[in-house]
Amino acid sequence: MVMLNYKGSPRDVATMAHELGHGVHQELAKNKGDRIKRSPLTFAETASVFGEMLTFKSLLKAAKTDDDRRRLLCDKINDMVNTLYRQISFHDFEKRAHGAVKATGRALSADEIAGHFQAALVESYGDSVNLPEDYGVIYPYISHFMHSPFYVYAYAFGDSLVNALYQVYEEGSVPDFEAKYIEMLEMGGTLTPEHLKATFGLDITDPEFWKKGVKTIESMIDELEALCAPLLKPQQAPAANTPSGP
Ligand SMILES: [Zn+2]
Repeated sequence: MVMLNYKGSPRDVATMAHELGHGVHQELAKNKGDRIKRSPLTFAETASVFGEMLTFKSLLKAAKTDDDRRRLLCDKINDMVNTLYRQISFHDFEKRAHGAVKATGRALSADEIAGHFQAALVESYGDSVNLPEDYGVIYPYISHFMHSPFYVYAYAFGDSLVNALYQVYEEGSVPDFEAKYIEMLEMGGTLTPEHLKATFGLDITDPEFWKKGVKTIESMIDELEALCAPLLKPQQAPAANTPSGP
């Protein structure tokens, strides 16, 4: 059973694809037995994010107007950038805050924690986003920081893995991809990075693996830029913006 809210927006369709991915993953891995059927965090989002990507590509293909295509791409890129870069900056914040506790041997004040959050985000965004000066105070809004420290990194890892896997799928460089993909999901908690390397040629110790993932986002940004070009006047440069949402 998959339970979710659904009102028919493209985002709802993506969410349904995501949650059904979890359902399919659990169904395929259920014969593994209780102790090993559950994937570790790093692989837990594989089927869900892959399903979302397949659905996104099919929606994009079916889109009738450039406006629809721009909207779909914009939302997807926003999600991907948030999942990868923003979660990595969250991880950096946790390293800073936990590191400061270790170095000083005392608890940090709320202002100090907010300062670390602000500093990590400012470094990550550079001059592309103008953060309000007091933006750092929103850190308690991300519940992972309290309930599962360092969880955020799993999002960046999981998304990069799926992006790389999707690249391999699209290139058609792995014969019998579909059978191998299903077999991988059936492995549940026994899936290892070695298996990924042997089956799909994806080696997480190789920088090329990570670049493959980033390339997926890059090519979508290229596609969006090409679609937006007719709307921009030649001298018009894109302005820095303020982030919305977590
Ligand atoms: Zn999920």
